[in-house]
Amino acid sequence: MPRVLITCSGCERPVYTGLTFEQWFTFDWVDVQGATTVCNACGTANRWTKDDAYLEADGGGD
Ligand SMILES: [Zn+2]
Repeated sequence: MPRVLITCSGCERPVYTGLTFEQWFTFDWVDVQGATTVCNACGTANRWTKDDAYLEADGGGD
């Protein structure tokens, strides 16, 4: 299951939001009020919406 990632505004690394592709569709509130995810690498609290997020490639091959 692909994970939902954002790009950290502090270190520009991918940060896992805690959501997966399946959960993505149930999180309409992200569009309304945004969400905040703290980067594990640098500690930056990134405020984001669905426009900022993307899906990680599943990487499972065929
Ligand atoms: Zn960071």
